[in-house]
Amino acid sequence: MLNASYEPVNITRARRALVLLIKGVAVVEEAHDRFVHIGLQLPCVIRLRQYRRLPSRIQTLSRKNILIRDGYICQYCGGKFLSSELELEHVIPRAQGGQSAWENLVAACRDCNARKADRTPAEAGMKLLRQPRRVTIHTSRALMRQTGIGEEKWRKYLYY
Ligand SMILES: [Zn+2]
Repeated sequence: MLNASYEPVNITRARRALVLLIKGVAVVEEAHDRFVHIGLQLPCVIRLRQYRRLPSRIQTLSRKNILIRDGYICQYCGGKFLSSELELEHVIPRAQGGQSAWENLVAACRDCNARKADRTPAEAGMKLLRQPRRVTIHTSRALMRQTGIGEEKWRKYLYY
């Protein structure tokens, strides 16, 4: 999704993009070759009609944003998974005072999450691929680039 100024705002689900188009809030800039309906192509890049002021430099802490930050990769075994196969894992378990924060939440597959259980990585003998960090609007753009690497039609909006 692009702002009215063509600045990339975020990566959104196709369903949400379609809702924004139907409501007339956004317009299609690039479409996929696939059709969702007769005469309706799956949107690839949409742009907001009205400029939206981005609320803050700090991205909201959400399951989706954690999964995007971690590239849908389990931070213990390094496997790539679907969103539905990943869980949010507290590095320092809540039982040991671990917070629900960017720096303490990572994507983990069910097997790794179950294996680690209520232990720290050291206690479980499991190593994190990398130290989790807070995501800001700057890293968010870097993440969109990373996610969009294989998307031909996103490229010109992400690299300028
Ligand atoms: Zn795993």
